[in-house]
Amino acid sequence: MTFALHGLPVARGIAIGRAVLVVSSRVDVAHYFVQPHEVEAEIGRVRTARNAVAEELQRLQANVAQMTPQEAPHELSALLEVHQMLLQDEALTDGVKHWITERLYNAEWALTTQLEIVARQFDEMEDEYLRERKADLEQVVERLLHQMKGTAAVLAPPPPKRRARTGEEGDDGADDGFDVPLVLIAHDLAPADMLQFKKSVFAGFVTDVGGRTSHTAIVARSMDIPAVVGARGASQLVRQDDWVIIDGDAGVVIVDPSPIILAEYGFKQRQGELERERLWRLRHKPAVTLDNQRVELLANIELPDDTAGAVKAGAVGVGLFRSEFLFMGRTERGEKLPDEEEQYEAYRRAIDGMQGMPVTIRTIDIGADKPLDAKSTKQEYLNPALGLRAIRWSLAEPAMFLTQLRAILRAAAHGAVHLLIPMLAHASEIRQTLALIEQARAELDMRGQAHGAVKLGAMIEVPAAALTLKLFLRHFDFLSIGTNDLIQYTLAIDRADEAVAHLYDPAHPAVLRLVADTIAECRRQGKGVSVCGEMAGDVHFTRLLLGLGLRSFSMHPSQILAVKQEVLRADTTKLAPWAQRVLESDDPAGMIAG
Ligand code: PEP
Ligand code: MG
Repeated sequence: MTFALHGLPVARGIAIGRAVLVVSSRVDVAHYFVQPHEVEAEIGRVRTARNAVAEELQRLQANVAQMTPQEAPHELSALLEVHQMLLQDEALTDGVKHWITERLYNAEWALTTQLEIVARQFDEMEDEYLRERKADLEQVVERLLHQMKGTAAVLAPPPPKRRARTGEEGDDGADDGFDVPLVLIAHDLAPADMLQFKKSVFAGFVTDVGGRTSHTAIVARSMDIPAVVGARGASQLVRQDDWVIIDGDAGVVIVDPSPIILAEYGFKQRQGELERERLWRLRHKPAVTLDNQRVELLANIELPDDTAGAVKAGAVGVGLFRSEFLFMGRTERGEKLPDEEEQYEAYRRAIDGMQGMPVTIRTIDIGADKPLDAKSTKQEYLNPALGLRAIRWSLAEPAMFLTQLRAILRAAAHGAVHLLIPMLAHASEIRQTLALIEQARAELDMRGQAHGAVKLGAMIEVPAAALTLKLFLRHFDFLSIGTNDLIQYTLAIDRADEAVAHLYDPAHPAVLRLVADTIAECRRQGKGVSVCGEMAGDVHFTRLLLGLGLRSFSMHPSQILAVKQEVLRADTTKLAPWAQRVLESDDPAGMIAG
């Protein structure tokens, strides 16, 4: 039966595919793809775990047999027998084999997927006794998962790539070992998990929770595949292998669509692809307005390898390298955090990747909805967005901060680097940060190691910073406006919480005033200013930002060409007075919409 779910659109376009559910289990489970030649070994891991659990249950049964009825009631033995039966049940074993062989899921993912399917069958049973066996099945699967812990050969090999949406190579999605597009449905995905799926087979994403500028949404957008977040209940209502349409423009998820609906969305999908091909022709065109104003279109990246996409899309530099993605998810994979050498190599790769164009490296912005690992969940903190994140975290961990600063300064010897500091608000934070940068340089000098000059920038993300611009401009060469956080902190709206997503308003007069003042003050003082929040890549705001005097925009590479199209059509002599009227208006959103 066809039904629709509504959420927040976060990445544009239409995806049509079969649902892959990432089920949350009581045991931590890694989700990754094995290579085709690893399938047998992966099935072997399940077999070995099954044999071990069978032995474990036998041992328990033997122990129980020797106990008195007071020590171990008769039912216990019967229960262990049921567990043995469930362990050997074909519905479980065949299903697990199917997911590993057909979908290349790792063993744990295959097990939890199949558990979910069989558990739903139990839920639908009339007989109460049988219905209650679901809990036994869950226990058996948990025993299996515990057995498999530590036996994975590789934790996260890059899964096969399904489709490249750059427009250059066409978009037939063919020849990738899968004959049906897959869409991922999950309750929630940590940004680090999203990163694992970055080069994956998925044609789209849906999550139950999350806001438009949550970091999960941001990574989905950087992958340039349709995505909807905050689609409450999706992971409960959608079933494994259901056909699903994701409308990333409208924020709608259609499950089990009829042939007519499928045909309609298939048409929309092709229209979108044609539009992308049309935009692709703009990639070598300089971004200059009708009145000859040159506009800098920069890329936001999460990993050094993202520079390839940035260059392809015509970015003239990196405006935001979110360096925290080098750190996230490491400890939960049993790996160490990147040391100076590893970071230096990563920054250097990004610099080399940009082929002489500048790279803005932001120091680690950990915390809030970007925990170092998924286990340090929000619940641990009273109010994570207002807690120890970004520069506050770095200043609380000076040894780690110095390591990162040394790595960045060393990398700066190989190309143009801008060093960007997130979430500053206090003069004392500025002082401490500058002192640590000097200390990092001094340490490199002592070691006799080469380092390069950097331009120093501060992010304007907290209203307190936007209201004390003169202080910032005394110390920094440029400012970069992080509208995602600036909106969050100005309006007191958690950007990751879908319950208040309707109040997250980039066009709120207070937000526009802070953005406008920051641009104006930088221009007055002849300092560089850019916007690197999601607003920069949103074509609805391009004209307004141009009118406010912005000439540097940083965004996901996938958004660059659409923004360039707006720039090419713009006349800033007309936009400037209009933008001032928008600032004074009671209904700026209405004026921006036109
Ligand atoms: C922002 O806050 O706008 C920004 C670019 O930083 P992040 O989204 O990583 O918090
Ligand atoms: Mg931010």
